[in-house]
Amino acid sequence: LVVLDKVNKHYGELHVLRDIDLSVQRGEVIVIIGPSGSGKSTLCRAINRLESIDSGVIAIDGTPLPAEGRQLARLRADVGMVFQNFNLFAHKTVLENVTLGPVTVLGKSKDAAERRGRELLDRVGIGNQADKYPAQLSGGQQQRVAIARSLAMDPKVILFDEPTSALDPEMVNEVLDVMTALARDGMTMLVVTHEMGFARRAADRVVFMADGQIVEENTPDDFFGAPRSERAKSFLAKIL
Ligand code: ATP
Ligand code: MG
Repeated sequence: LVVLDKVNKHYGELHVLRDIDLSVQRGEVIVIIGPSGSGKSTLCRAINRLESIDSGVIAIDGTPLPAEGRQLARLRADVGMVFQNFNLFAHKTVLENVTLGPVTVLGKSKDAAERRGRELLDRVGIGNQADKYPAQLSGGQQQRVAIARSLAMDPKVILFDEPTSALDPEMVNEVLDVMTALARDGMTMLVVTHEMGFARRAADRVVFMADGQIVEENTPDDFFGAPRSERAKSFLAKIL
């Protein structure tokens, strides 16, 4: 569903993505881990072209991402993104946050978008918060709004970039539970996270990045049980 073929990117002298090959099957959940600065966020941002790449190909459902234009907008709508800091529209209500994209980008009627929006808010456990503003919600609730907003676009894949790392510890699980349920429902997901419990529970594959490269790729059991590279071993020793 998502295929990266020899993707390279530089920031000036810095080679942030080095020959990245990665292929994500439909329904697959991939957890990406690795030290700070290894290029995890850049990789996510490249997949929905918030960042350009210097060489290589990124294809969504068989179609290579073009550099710009209308086809890019269409392909990008297939790729949802959930950020560390929620990125909700502060001056719109929860329900408006969830219906804006479907109405303006997908051309849905307001009624249809609201019906589906309420359904999705129920699904992430905040159906009763629809008329509030983001600032009136807890961090965990805001992140669940962000997930509902992403789902409202009917994406083929959702990218999560450290979705729980800005949350107070007691709110981490409510967000991970929603993500685990999505994974069980067959959503294709690429998740950058340091939550190893989630990786063990929900990931089909763990991808370990360091210095812009994919160093190791394995099932969670094998990756955590028997990491092959020294880099992965020392990283795990620090975080586990
Ligand atoms: P973290 O775990 O801290 O979020 P990361 O793996 O997500 O790290 P990236 O944010 O992808 O890492 O950054 C990779 C490297 O690229 C870092 O060295 C970072 O300083 C650099 N970098 C990121 N964005 C830019 C930018 N816009 N301009 C220049 N350098 C950048
Ligand atoms: Mg990052």
